[in-house]
Amino acid sequence: MAVAVGEKHREVGKSGTVVPGPVLLLGAPGVGKGTQAQAIMAAWGIPQISTGDILRSNVSGGTELGKKARALMDRGELVPDDLVNQMVADRLQLPDTAKGYILDGFPRTLGQAEWLDSYLAERSGGLPVVAVSIKVGYTQLLRRITGRRNCPVCKSIYNIYLQPPKVDTLCDLDGTPLARRSDDTEEVFEERMRTYESLTAPVIEHYRACGRFQEVDGELPVDAVTAAVMAAVLRLRGAAS
Ligand code: AMP
Repeated sequence: MAVAVGEKHREVGKSGTVVPGPVLLLGAPGVGKGTQAQAIMAAWGIPQISTGDILRSNVSGGTELGKKARALMDRGELVPDDLVNQMVADRLQLPDTAKGYILDGFPRTLGQAEWLDSYLAERSGGLPVVAVSIKVGYTQLLRRITGRRNCPVCKSIYNIYLQPPKVDTLCDLDGTPLARRSDDTEEVFEERMRTYESLTAPVIEHYRACGRFQEVDGELPVDAVTAAVMAAVLRLRGAAS
């Protein structure tokens, strides 16, 4: 079953009153940041900027950045801040970010968070970031990560345990054989969780302390999480939800 976006979420975008600005989706590996970012992207027409996706396309394209990142990613470790910050700065230059964007998987260290805060402060007229943290328990995360599959063509996300495709391991939408990320094994997941606890959990505390922060329960059905994330963004922007 592919992830669908409820009509009620699209309506918010149609009203024309929502300018989401920069939205950070925070949370451990497997909480559903990518799934939620795709739903919000469809509803509000703002791009998803996933540092993991950009790095993976550099790895598959064999770029210099990809060569530096590959081994670190395969071990579940982080790519150095200066490389990732530059990558994000380049992406934020593109005009599709004018109304807002969803950062998925960034910032992941306090250094990245501080870099982002000052980068945005230097850009005149921009809205400040709002941060939404998605929370899911460890056992559920493990199932989500080890069962996660994606369609390399249309990018739909499935889970062989929780949201299986209708036929074998083929994409419901275009019939492409589904792929598994090389770092979605149990062993690498454990390392990614250690990295998360030591380096990324403090980022959540950083944004909690700044205000414009809300936590949502990521164990609810996908559509309910999307509704909660969007309501949180609207509330943090001071708009009715
Ligand atoms: P993700 O797709 O967000 O789970 O990221 C996959 C991998 O890409 C991570 O385990 C890191 O090795 C790397 N990565 C993604 N985002 C960042 C980031 N903001 N900082 C450093 N490394 C990152």
